Amino acid sequence: MPVYESDVCIIGAGITSAMLAQKLSELRPGLSINVVEAGRSIFDFENRDKYRERMIKYGENPWPGDFIEDQAAQGGIARTMAVGGQALHWGGTCNRFSEEDLRLKSMHGLYVDWPIEWDELERYYCEAERRLGVSGEPSPFPEDRRTQPYPMKSMPLTWNLIRLKEWGDKSGIPFQGVPQAKNTIPYDGRSVCLRCKTCDICPTGARYSPDFTFKRLLAEKKITLHDHTLIRKLVHHDTKNDIVAAQGVRRDGSGSTVEYRARVFAVASGYTWSSHLLLLSKSSRFPDGVANRTGQVGKYMNGHAFTSAIFELDADVYPGMNPQYGLISRRFFRCAKDKPYVRHDLRIWEHPREALRIKDNNGQMLFGDDLVNDWRARNKRGRARVRAYYDVHPSLNSELTLDPSTRNQWGDPQPKIVNRLDDATQSRAGITKEHIHGVFAQLGRANNAKILSVSDGGYLDHPAGGCRMGTDPAASVCNSYGQTHDHENLFVVGAPTLPTAGCTNGTLTFVALTLRSADEIVRRLGPAQPRREERRRE
Ligand SMILES: Cc1cc2nc3c(=O)[nH]c(=O)nc-3n(C[C@H](O)[C@H](O)[C@H](O)COP(=O)(O)OP(=O)(O)OC[C@H]3O[C@@H](n4cnc5c(N)ncnc54)[C@H](O)[C@@H]3O)c2cc1C
Ligand code: SF4
Repeated sequence: MPVYESDVCIIGAGITSAMLAQKLSELRPGLSINVVEAGRSIFDFENRDKYRERMIKYGENPWPGDFIEDQAAQGGIARTMAVGGQALHWGGTCNRFSEEDLRLKSMHGLYVDWPIEWDELERYYCEAERRLGVSGEPSPFPEDRRTQPYPMKSMPLTWNLIRLKEWGDKSGIPFQGVPQAKNTIPYDGRSVCLRCKTCDICPTGARYSPDFTFKRLLAEKKITLHDHTLIRKLVHHDTKNDIVAAQGVRRDGSGSTVEYRARVFAVASGYTWSSHLLLLSKSSRFPDGVANRTGQVGKYMNGHAFTSAIFELDADVYPGMNPQYGLISRRFFRCAKDKPYVRHDLRIWEHPREALRIKDNNGQMLFGDDLVNDWRARNKRGRARVRAYYDVHPSLNSELTLDPSTRNQWGDPQPKIVNRLDDATQSRAGITKEHIHGVFAQLGRANNAKILSVSDGGYLDHPAGGCRMGTDPAASVCNSYGQTHDHENLFVVGAPTLPTAGCTNGTLTFVALTLRSADEIVRRLGPAQPRREERRRE
């Protein structure tokens, strides 16, 4: 079996892995870093236009072969497993959480506090925004103060968004353009956004995706990337608690086994596969898997719930103007301590109106001017989509478990995720609904708006958890740096470490926490040493 040795072995090649590898290679230029990814590399930027065209014409997945047939989580919400991870597809929305997310217990007597100070996280938000390239404008709320400006000015609002912002402001709720990892100036070698509205695959490179970082790190020989390689088990030392190896299988058709040895292992496998790998790594000394002495791995799986509404209103909104860009209000990110606890973001987008049709309500065919007049008549008023992501807290048994009834070709049980909310969250469900419907009604009172429909989301978005951070090993898997309580040289980074998922998009927070982990990993590795080449043994 080939054995690869390096200083650091990173498992997974999504956005958190890209940021970790990049920062480690900058902090310790001599470090040897192996990045191991189960899926394939899709490094053909020159083909993006073609993939984009097929997506538009035929609705095809613009990232061909970005998933693994027999690796699938029951209850998971995305299947991408490839170099770049889910952020190949992401919309690039980069909202920060607020201090309340870290201080639920001390501010509101709810759930737990995170073991990290807001001011410290804020510094890492600045770093994350710089590395990803986020365009945005400061929030009007003093609590959202920033220590550094956004690296790029915000995207100009479209005609539609100006109309919709006027509507929101008139209702008394201030809105602004949402911060995004999309270039408004040439940035980091990538182009400016041309507002071509296919952000699922960006043909210009204006929207950040991790494949850019990996390609650059590879070209500069700062990392070694082993794609098509599924890690199936972490192996600990015979007598000590250190992790000594990550064992996997090549998915290149050979099915051959492979082993990675390193001084530090960083599991950057996302919210599903990080807990899954720890649970799979059973041994006689650790019968419930590694980092799981107190049975916390896979627990407290979280995400935010959401409610959406479609509005019709007096505003000239013409569908199709960069519709993936939208507005946000941070007005409800915090709530008064003497009021029922409800915290949420609020987003607005243009919403497509009635399509052209060839028959009217009576079944008569429409031709020429009649066809256009019918369309105009049905589209006199503008439409908007409004959505609130709201904060909910998981119970201990909101969990990821191994499902023995579903196995991959190597015989590994696949993960099953069941989200459950704690009693306090469940008991305020009515008040939460009432509050959000009240906010929709407030918007409805401006511009003669009418709510056409309201719907609740059927899943928790921006999922996280499973390897919760904390100070008490009985109630958490790792400390605030992602370093596991049980194994000093094993780190879990990003999404799995979050105790709660806040009330807005989570990836900027996953990245900020990962960049903080990088500092700790480097501290653990000690002073810089001469560059160690990755070594291979048969
Ligand atoms: C359509 C879409 C739109 C989105 N838009 C936004 C947005 O606008 N804003 C936002 O904040 N978030 C957004 N998200 C979410 C965001 O993409 C994810 O939060 C983020 O990419 C997660 O990154 P990650 O590094 O934690 O994990 P992942 O992206 O899941 O990467 C983990 C990687 O690890 C690999 N891996 C797992 N297990 C193993 C193993 N055992 N061995 C080897 N490799 C392994 C996987 O194959 C995968 O490539 C969106 C997601 C989707 C799908
Ligand atoms: S709108 Fe901008 S970010 Fe989106 S695909 Fe087009 S160029 Fe890329």
